[in-house]
Amino acid sequence: MTPLEKIIGEIIAAEGPMTIDRYMGLCLGHPVHGYYMNRDPFGEKGDFMTAPEISQVFGELIGVWCVAAWAAMGKSTPFNLVELGPGRGTLMADILKATKVMPGFCDAARVHLVEMSPVLRELQKEKLGNAVAWHESMANMPEGPMLLVANEFFDAVPIRQFEKRHGKWLERCIGAEGMGFMPAALDNTQGADGDVIEFTPQRVEIAKEIGQRLAKQKGCALIIDYGHLQTTPGDTLQAVRAHKYVAVTDRPGESDITSHVDFEALGKALAQGGATVLPAITQRAFLLAMGLEQRTAMLSSRADAKTKEILDRGAARLVGEREMGHLFKVMVGTSPDLATPYPFGMP
Ligand code: SAH
Repeated sequence: MTPLEKIIGEIIAAEGPMTIDRYMGLCLGHPVHGYYMNRDPFGEKGDFMTAPEISQVFGELIGVWCVAAWAAMGKSTPFNLVELGPGRGTLMADILKATKVMPGFCDAARVHLVEMSPVLRELQKEKLGNAVAWHESMANMPEGPMLLVANEFFDAVPIRQFEKRHGKWLERCIGAEGMGFMPAALDNTQGADGDVIEFTPQRVEIAKEIGQRLAKQKGCALIIDYGHLQTTPGDTLQAVRAHKYVAVTDRPGESDITSHVDFEALGKALAQGGATVLPAITQRAFLLAMGLEQRTAMLSSRADAKTKEILDRGAARLVGEREMGHLFKVMVGTSPDLATPYPFGMP
């Protein structure tokens, strides 16, 4: 039994079964035993691999995108360069490296990182130095023009799940016996028995706040994650440990629990906040349009055989149709008066 399993068991004994979002919030963010709070989960030796850790080209191309977006904003100076859930800080480091080519960009950028994990904050500090500010949430971040990036952040935001059983919607929960159901005040007559729908109130709140900030001041938000373009029923909750799927209830606090991002719902929340939202595109379409192949070829041309292989394999993984290319989507929200940033809104 993990220490967190014991704590969760005690809460359930005292208060009854808990909803999935509360369970997920504890598993990931419990101040002492939460999955993200006390470890570096990335890489071969960790539990999972993310795009910036696969290839430097990922962050470099996002840097190029940021440069163009900043130009479209009229080169606001200063502006907030925000990242939600920066992990090891690799993506931000690659963005800052790539944006050096644009005079004024780095001097104008005030880097703000939204990160709950003390361990990951330390790694970010090692990589990015002290000239960045950390926040628990966006709420306390200063206002101002903003470029925001979030890669594999929204999948980690806790969700609620409902399942239709015998003609009635019930909320999924974790009780003394593991996964179970509790009555739900869900007034939805649609759906068939066995359907699962996911609600993400916390995700909606964060997206709405991004939208509100974009409505007030110039800016763009680039959101990348695995998920689907349209709201569809389905159970997408998953737990991963050491690169393998495990049960969500297996060793709480020791595996990464996430769900797929419903980009339709995310877009609606951004728009509700006041942003202009363009239809999401696949990571494959985004990275190829940004020049993944050209940049990889350029780096390869001056690399040794082993590095070349790593670069090629990394690029293939990022855009491969059966790898990350189609599963991952990219969505952008902008201030209402901003020109549509390339490559969104292209025919
Ligand atoms: N973007 C990084 C890391 C993705 S993992 C990459 O692509 O490699 C998710 C990141 O979000 C971690 O840094 C985790 O600590 C952070 N995180 C997850 N939920 C969070 C929350 N509710 N508030 C702040 N940070 C959170």
